[in-house]
Amino acid sequence: MNQHYINLVQRLEEIAHLNGVMSNLGWDQEVMMPAGASESRAKQIAALAGVIHERATDPALGDCLKELQETSKAGAWGAIEQCNIQEALRNYEMEIRIPKRLVQEIAELSSRGQVIWVAARQHNKFSDFAPVLKRFLKLKIEWAQCVLPNLQPYDANIDLFERGTTMAMITPVFERLKQELIPLINAIQSHSYHPDTTFLRGTFATEKQEFLARKLSRDIGFDFDRGRMDVSVHPFCGGSHPTDVRITTRYSESNFIESLYSIIHETGHALYEQGRPHQLGDLPVTESSTMGIHESQSLFWERMIAQSKSFCSHYFKDFRETFPDNLRAVSLEEFYRAINNCTPGFIRVEADEVTYPLHVILRYEIERGLFDDTLSVDDLPGIWNESMQKYLGITPPTDTLGVLQDSHWSGGAFGYFPSYTLGALYACQFYQKLVQEQPDTEQNIALGNFKPIKQWLNEKIHCHGKLYSPQELIKNVTGAHLNPDYFITYLKTKYSEIYQLS
Ligand code: ZN
Repeated sequence: MNQHYINLVQRLEEIAHLNGVMSNLGWDQEVMMPAGASESRAKQIAALAGVIHERATDPALGDCLKELQETSKAGAWGAIEQCNIQEALRNYEMEIRIPKRLVQEIAELSSRGQVIWVAARQHNKFSDFAPVLKRFLKLKIEWAQCVLPNLQPYDANIDLFERGTTMAMITPVFERLKQELIPLINAIQSHSYHPDTTFLRGTFATEKQEFLARKLSRDIGFDFDRGRMDVSVHPFCGGSHPTDVRITTRYSESNFIESLYSIIHETGHALYEQGRPHQLGDLPVTESSTMGIHESQSLFWERMIAQSKSFCSHYFKDFRETFPDNLRAVSLEEFYRAINNCTPGFIRVEADEVTYPLHVILRYEIERGLFDDTLSVDDLPGIWNESMQKYLGITPPTDTLGVLQDSHWSGGAFGYFPSYTLGALYACQFYQKLVQEQPDTEQNIALGNFKPIKQWLNEKIHCHGKLYSPQELIKNVTGAHLNPDYFITYLKTKYSEIYQLS
């Protein structure tokens, strides 16, 4: 084996191991750490971040990559080695192209912005947050020009989360979703029938919820020998390695559906992490693909599987036995309709699968407008409310319930939102393909036999790591490019049946 490549592997694996330590420090902070340790932990994290940055920008790594780039051009490598070299090169160049001043300014504004956002949200005062947003916009445009000068600045920001995807690809897809979903939501809203959801509220003991959460997660394939489940304020999937995947949830005594579906969501992320091809080393090729593909894996289980009638029919008996006082008088059909009820609301994270994309599209259009300078930060509250009225027929009474609700902009994460909806579209397209290849999928779900489904995802998606771009992956798996029609047809069929629309 080429000595430069051996050298590269050693360096990349060391960086991966340090990142694993960082990730477990972050998990500990969210799950276990005593509150009094926050300052010392911040120093530990900063020190480790410094070490990782040093390793990642080491000129010796640059020299090694330069040598490998030459042999790369000659086509000397297989696909896996080629992927490792290309990814390492991209990361290295991204790190060294950004001036240190800009790195520091972005990091400083991220932590300060978070504090200002929390206060502005609390006082319902957008004007306090506006200066942060303006400054971030400038910094993120400068960042884009340094790192990906060939892309438009907003495309460069999207690229960070959804490699290879641009406004030119997203806009027509989102236009099509608006065209189809707004009338569907209107039809649902104006219909006289609405599912009864009152029984989903009540008192549900936390221990019983946890028992169910662990059972469902294990049933669908989470390997507890290589993972953990704990409690945190915001549910997430973290961990340091495919052999150490950590998911969290939170329990509300008054609502068991929320924690149950959030654990199914995080289990979807976790199955992807546990299914990564770590036998190839702790190297870039074994990492997961984009945010959108990751989200497709969580939404695949949360929505395509767990919100289906087959899934409800398998588990409803368990739910009823666990919470007899709440569900005794409820039928399976009533339960299925209640968990799929579609109601426009102000808050994105609480939205159902039909209205959710419109929350994302609204944010995408705002970000695009800010980057191409057709919108100004000061006008955002008004534009936000107008779009909410146009897309969902409701106007938030306060900015806290509107433009100030998400934390993303307080950390400068522009270009992140589209991934949520791209994930939903990928998930639906993957599911259609699974059913085509395994026509007994619904029966399997109804029997609680999730093995063939997990295996399909392992073979088609997880085991490829970062080898393919999301565009290649969706084409390889489904035989087609990203196509919103799968999602639109799925929603129309499902919700016409639930709401008895003609
Ligand atoms: Zn997720």
